[in-house]
Amino acid sequence: MADYVIVGGGIYGCAIAWELAKAGEETLLLEAKSIASGASGGLGERGVRANGRDLRELPLMRLAYDIWLDLHERIGGFTGYRRLGHLHLIEREADLAGAPAQVWMQNRQGIESHLLEAEQSRELEPQLSENVIGAIYCPKDGVADHSATTRAIAEAAREAGAQIIENAPVTGLRRQGDVIISIRATIDGKDREIEVGKQVILLSNAHVAGFVRDNIGIELPLWRMWPQVMALAADIPPPMTHLIGHAHRTLAIKPLPDGRVMVSGGWRGRWDEASGQGEPVAEQVEGNRLQAAAVYPALAELEVDEVFTDRAEMISVDGIPIIDTLPGAANMLVGVGWSGHGWAIAPAAAKLMARWALSGERPEMLASFGYGRFFA
Ligand SMILES: Cc1cc2nc3c(=O)[nH]c(=O)nc-3n(C[C@H](O)[C@H](O)[C@H](O)COP(=O)(O)OP(=O)(O)OC[C@H]3O[C@@H](n4cnc5c(N)ncnc54)[C@H](O)[C@@H]3O)c2cc1C
Repeated sequence: MADYVIVGGGIYGCAIAWELAKAGEETLLLEAKSIASGASGGLGERGVRANGRDLRELPLMRLAYDIWLDLHERIGGFTGYRRLGHLHLIEREADLAGAPAQVWMQNRQGIESHLLEAEQSRELEPQLSENVIGAIYCPKDGVADHSATTRAIAEAAREAGAQIIENAPVTGLRRQGDVIISIRATIDGKDREIEVGKQVILLSNAHVAGFVRDNIGIELPLWRMWPQVMALAADIPPPMTHLIGHAHRTLAIKPLPDGRVMVSGGWRGRWDEASGQGEPVAEQVEGNRLQAAAVYPALAELEVDEVFTDRAEMISVDGIPIIDTLPGAANMLVGVGWSGHGWAIAPAAAKLMARWALSGERPEMLASFGYGRFFA
């Protein structure tokens, strides 16, 4: 029996377990494999970026900026958080036309943003292609070491009193009316039924949609994707010092601490039935590499060192998460559909979800993410 049963040991599950345990609540986290074995782990670093983010997520990002700053002190562990600054590059006049409106909106949301001309962009990034005619610059954006952070928060949760069990896949639930009274899981190879004292918090990402469909009978407007990330061989120092995004290219670039350059931004792998995970597709790798070399010509010389497409992420139909309870499961809070950009806002969203779980009241900042938004 546990008052709060959390399903999934990614950044969300671990951060909420930490918050609930700190509040003195009896908290059990069940993770199917190991901590950070999903989207919250793997190659390189994750962007902690507000620039170009959906308007509805910007209040969370503003809060997250502050939390990221001293998170390492509060968890007593490594996060690798660095404010590199983010440049949203512009090559087309049409994108330049809209840029002042984006800068205006982001500044109104408390996200420091500047519109840079071509020359100012090249002062920050001297190796940029001549085709870049401007950029939107957010100096507070940066990166974090996602695997290390997730594991460190799990450790902090344990120290605060949360029980975390790995290799413990959740397989089902039992309800009385619309209240979940127990969760079924396989622990140490045995089927176990765990009584739920207060609430279930479902944060198992790629597993959520199927679990909700099979157990609650609700179809969520989500699908699974296998985002592609690659590291180009080290070129020391790397040709860029900022986190890079792009107005029309499918592209994100990060200089990694080991001197390699991480390239990603929305290219994807394909599902491989045999291995049960995403595997790289040669054209996608080449496409992503060419996009990177188009804005940093020096990258054309670098070999592709590693490519991974093994971490699944759920995408929602409108590109922002669903954070809500669902009809038929009144004591289950669900957070899913982070749509490839759930890392940066995680410390803020997790804090607010924990507050919701404790008080029973939805924090105003989460109002945009309700399941009800899909219904007329
Ligand atoms: C390649 C890639 C690059 C990304 N880049 C960025 C970026 O630069 N910036 C950004 O903001 N975001 C980025 N994201 C998104 C971000 O990483 C995710 O949104 C975030 O990590 C999701 O965290 P989570 O805790 O919800 O899920 P996960 O980390 O996937 O955790 C879910 C956990 O649930 C477990 N689980 C599954 N089934 C069960 C079960 N039956 N029982 C128990 N546990 C179960 C899994 O094993 C997993 O550990 C990226 C994502 C990927 C995949």
